[in-house]
Amino acid sequence: MLEGAGHRALLVGGAVRNALLGQPVEDIDIATDARPEQVADLARDAGLKPVPTGIEHGTITVVSGGHGFEVTTFRRDVETDGRRAVVAFSDDIGEDARRRDFTMNALYATRDGAVLDPVGGLPDLAARRLRFVGRPEQRIREDYLRILRFFRFLAWYGRDADTDALQACAALAPGLARIAHERIGAEFRKLLAAPDPAPSVALMQDAGILARVLPGAEAGTLPALVAAERDAGAGPDWPRRLAALGAEDPQAALRLSRDDARRQAALAGALASNWSLDEAGYRLGLPAARDHALILAARGMALPTDWPERLERAASARLPIAAGALMGQLQGPALGRGLKAAEQAWIDSGFTLPPSALIEAAMRAGEEER
Ligand code: ATP
Ligand code: MG
Repeated sequence: MLEGAGHRALLVGGAVRNALLGQPVEDIDIATDARPEQVADLARDAGLKPVPTGIEHGTITVVSGGHGFEVTTFRRDVETDGRRAVVAFSDDIGEDARRRDFTMNALYATRDGAVLDPVGGLPDLAARRLRFVGRPEQRIREDYLRILRFFRFLAWYGRDADTDALQACAALAPGLARIAHERIGAEFRKLLAAPDPAPSVALMQDAGILARVLPGAEAGTLPALVAAERDAGAGPDWPRRLAALGAEDPQAALRLSRDDARRQAALAGALASNWSLDEAGYRLGLPAARDHALILAARGMALPTDWPERLERAASARLPIAAGALMGQLQGPALGRGLKAAEQAWIDSGFTLPPSALIEAAMRAGEEER
């Protein structure tokens, strides 16, 4: 559509990088010299839906065949306040490349697969070298989020971290205080979802950045967690890894969704109260109890070989007495206390106590003076 109207249209960023690495491509970004209004007009003329998803940065999402294609006009950085680069439109792919963060993210491809490489990203990608476009200090001062993006792309596509870039990240880390927690959270979650984020997170910790973005976090158990996940055939899962870091308040630091925050709180609570596998299985249910077990393994606990089956049994266990069995004998708060005690005894017995013993336990607790 764009080329038909005489414009340039190039694939750029993650789609090109991942295709060259033979890795899955999530979303497709297109860079063009057409201005956003032209993109929108052309899309409408072609019967496609233009959505102004980031019009202030020159981005129009064009929905075609059920997929959203982010079409962004070539830009150059003009001025920055460290929170977000401020950009102007350009007709020049070289300028557009120079405002991008890393050389491996500044690769372009034509529709028939020819790759354009204005800033030397191809040899860097081949060597798995994550290199800033331009001087690291300057690029970070323009947009401090690039510090987190450095560790994210290092985890996914990098090999050894460049010392100059690492030093710049460490020295400029205080600037992260200017970045919205949402944006930090988005990058950090993607970092933790890498096949093995442990080396990158360890570098973040050494550079004093981990504690800054996630107070209380400790990277120490991450390598063992990744190993335990691999043994168990569990996929990379950022919430489990986040829970293993033991941060004080991940919800505030990373602006998690309500569901994600709940899952973090449940796991943190289970770990803090030293729940057994049975208790975690019963009280947390299956996916969370598996996370709990893997984190315990990472902390050095030897899991029984049948732990997955034990968790399944615990997760499907149902207390075999109902409140009705105690009513008449216990009322009000005493009834609640009794039921709680019966449930705990049931868990602690490995779900083996018969109903008579559970009723006894409930009566004992219910009748205790408070
Ligand atoms: P992913 O596979 O996670 O989508 P991506 O490389 O496409 O990776 P995005 O965050 O989607 O990453 O950004 C798309 C492209 O936009 C990047 O490849 C990079 O060229 C550019 N970019 C994004 N954010 C920044 C930034 N803060 N500073 C400079 N360039 C950026
Ligand atoms: Mg992308």
